[in-house]
Amino acid sequence: MRHTSDTLWLEILETLGETAVNDIYLRQVSPRYLDKESFKVAVPSDYTQDEIQNRFLREITKVLADRISSECAFEIAVDASLAKTPDVDKTESTVKDTAPEPTGLNPNYVFDNFYVGQSNRICHATAYAASQDLGGEYNPLFIYGGVGLGKTHLLHAIGNLVQEENSKRKVLYVTSETFMNEYIDSIMNRTSAQGFRSKYRTADLLLIDDIQFIQRKEGTQEEFFNTFNDLYLNSNQIVMTSDRSPSMLKNLEERLSSRFEWGMVAEIDKPNYELRLLILRQKCQDQGLDNISDEVLNYVAEIVTANIRELEGTLVSLKARASLMDEELTIDLARSVLRDTSTPTRDKSLRKVVTPESIQELVAEHFQLNSSDLTSTKRTKILVYPRQIAMYLCRELTQLSLIDIAEAFNRQNHRTITYACQQIENLLEDGETKNVIQLLTDELT
Ligand code: ADP
Ligand code: MG
Repeated sequence: MRHTSDTLWLEILETLGETAVNDIYLRQVSPRYLDKESFKVAVPSDYTQDEIQNRFLREITKVLADRISSECAFEIAVDASLAKTPDVDKTESTVKDTAPEPTGLNPNYVFDNFYVGQSNRICHATAYAASQDLGGEYNPLFIYGGVGLGKTHLLHAIGNLVQEENSKRKVLYVTSETFMNEYIDSIMNRTSAQGFRSKYRTADLLLIDDIQFIQRKEGTQEEFFNTFNDLYLNSNQIVMTSDRSPSMLKNLEERLSSRFEWGMVAEIDKPNYELRLLILRQKCQDQGLDNISDEVLNYVAEIVTANIRELEGTLVSLKARASLMDEELTIDLARSVLRDTSTPTRDKSLRKVVTPESIQELVAEHFQLNSSDLTSTKRTKILVYPRQIAMYLCRELTQLSLIDIAEAFNRQNHRTITYACQQIENLLEDGETKNVIQLLTDELT
């Protein structure tokens, strides 16, 4: 996260904890300026300046060293005009009372334009089910997976559908960072603390995106815990997304992460080839791009494997190039577009000499087997280890989804691959497996 002086100050307060957040002197601080060498704030009086310097300087400097750099100095200036700040809070809150409450929803993210494949089927189904039965079986719903795979899209889709079916329902979408910032704001200006509580605790549907950011934020976790309990006990629906599963949220209080598992936990995986192609086709249609040939779409679906955001990005580049050239996109043109937009993942895929087949061949050769042994379902002991090595290498060296890899090994279920990778990871501590992996990796790349 790139800091502004405001966000840095909020984060400092958050890190120092509840007493700091409630401290009468710290609450008078107005953040002013931030660069690598200094973080400048202003306070209304000498007295406040002294108090803060004496009581908090050391701790604040420590946080600065941690978040910005050890060279960054904390400087407090006195600005007497701060003492005369008019009471704007009241006027603001009356304005807010009459305005319709914003939901934070993006109307473009709906179920209708969320395309479903094997990798996101379960997430999609549970998200839809939750929208039809708020506070029911899938409460809370916890969706997790890597970046660009559609978590945020699904979250908005639930909210939009609920609103569409019943506009009286109170829906609220926020990222966990917004939740944190509003929480800290509410404590700093006492007047809006009530507003904050009622905003979150009266929601029929609370959608919290990227919950992983509240790790290590004790104050926010406490507040979220209370919000969660309130909503849950009143059968209001909570849906969260995260980049990892509840059990992998290591810096989160146990009582919170265990609650996240009370309802339904669903994983979203990387899209396989079919879904990538489907999404490309649909998005071309949505955008009226009919001059991109199947050959080109197949090619893009094959190369851009990391996530759906990248697929969309590639399509935008293709479209730009097509309109610039004012001609149909040939496969050669597509190749050059992909070469020009060299994000790291694409680079990797372009160097893609490494395929499941090449891995299987090399591993078979190394262990003196036939490569068809590796893709067979025979469970002979001497096959298990080489097969797991090959599966592990596929995950490490290709951009394929677990489902794609499972297919390359004639397996129905991607959990086989996850299991194999875990087995190899456990063995990596011992020197022999590490050497084998190193040797094979060197040969393959
Ligand atoms: P995440 O929150 O998991 O990082 P997003 O929800 O922001 O991912 O998705 C990234 C982009 O990909 C968005 O523009 C989204 O609309 C699109 N997208 C993701 N999954 C799908 C899908 N299944 N169908 C259509 N578009 C998708
Ligand atoms: Mg997201």
